[in-house]
Amino acid sequence: MLRDDSIMTVLSVYDKYLESPLSSYLQSLVRQYGKEVLTQGHSLVLTTFLLQAKRLPRETKNPLWDILTEWFCPAEALAEAKETAAILHEFLPSPWSELITLAEVNRLLAVYDVNSLISQVAGEAPRTCLFPYGRLLEHGCSPNSQVCFVVEGGITTLQLNCLRPIKKGEPVSISYIPVYKPTAMRRELLLARYFFYCQCKQCTELPDLCRAFVCWFCPKNKKDQGVVVPCGDGSRLDQWQCLQCGQHPTAEKVHEMLGAEEAITRIKADKTIGMYKLIDNEIVHFTHYHVFQKLDLWAETSWKEQDARLCENYIDALLKCCQRVLPAEDVTIAQYHEFMGQIHHALGNAHTAKHEYGLALAIREKAGQGNTSWCNQTRKMALEKSLADFMDSK
Ligand SMILES: [Zn+2]
Ligand SMILES: [Zn+2]
Repeated sequence: MLRDDSIMTVLSVYDKYLESPLSSYLQSLVRQYGKEVLTQGHSLVLTTFLLQAKRLPRETKNPLWDILTEWFCPAEALAEAKETAAILHEFLPSPWSELITLAEVNRLLAVYDVNSLISQVAGEAPRTCLFPYGRLLEHGCSPNSQVCFVVEGGITTLQLNCLRPIKKGEPVSISYIPVYKPTAMRRELLLARYFFYCQCKQCTELPDLCRAFVCWFCPKNKKDQGVVVPCGDGSRLDQWQCLQCGQHPTAEKVHEMLGAEEAITRIKADKTIGMYKLIDNEIVHFTHYHVFQKLDLWAETSWKEQDARLCENYIDALLKCCQRVLPAEDVTIAQYHEFMGQIHHALGNAHTAKHEYGLALAIREKAGQGNTSWCNQTRKMALEKSLADFMDSK
């Protein structure tokens, strides 16, 4: 496991910055351009940098200033941040404006866009961070590692854990974007945010497991149905194949699958009826990403509407999706078990709730997250909280 402390952490909460000496600057930007346009992102990056830079002037040769000179910064990112940088620099009051040039503001924003990682920690507001080693991690659509974050004394630390054994000389990779997405969508996101067109093995030759269809040829079997998937982006007919029987569908069959894939996006969240329309579809397999994304959204909604029973059904289906598509150590699976624990807690099923938290804990510990705040909470629920307490705190 590798640990890496953030050298810059930007909180996404604008109000947190209003106590800083730069608050009048931020307020003037808001008056001019509105809160949405500027203050949610780039202006907070610049503010954070300047507050740190004032304490650590250039002459001290600290890693903070290396961001402006050493860090990776593609020309496309510079071009995209150019206009915002000009506005931010123009409004910057003295003495702050003497600390940094316009070109440096531009570079700071561009570097931030392509090098920062979003850290999600239980009980903390989301933040984006720059990690001196973390920035060197490559992107992989089927990554060999995953990261998690710990916040202690205001410092965010990144922890890196491998998902499978890494060979000597093999680049260490993480996914910059959520992994339960099909090739075309991943490529689009990566191009828009990181300015590269992904040509990894997963994008070009490996089966795209989250674009799954029911095999027309394999015997119908609810538990272990043959699944047809495209390998790579599926633009060629020969890329389509059943993972079980090896059959290649005809052009007609693929056409039918694409039609069903499109049709499934129109299914409405009609409680369990909507769910069965999704997971019992005759052509689209229940692990398809459209099914996953809809169920994920519906689970959130049903939880907010306090329909724990319905939510339980959704999470159950989501866990089945994850188990087929994601590696067993992926912490997304732990998150769903924790959600399930919460649901059973609400339903008064103390035993099942504890069991679910236990499953989540095992995944988190295996992923090296044993000491994170997230995991401590789960451990408490799985091991320390008594069954009677579960019933009382319902
Ligand atoms: Zn890729
Ligand atoms: Zn088959």
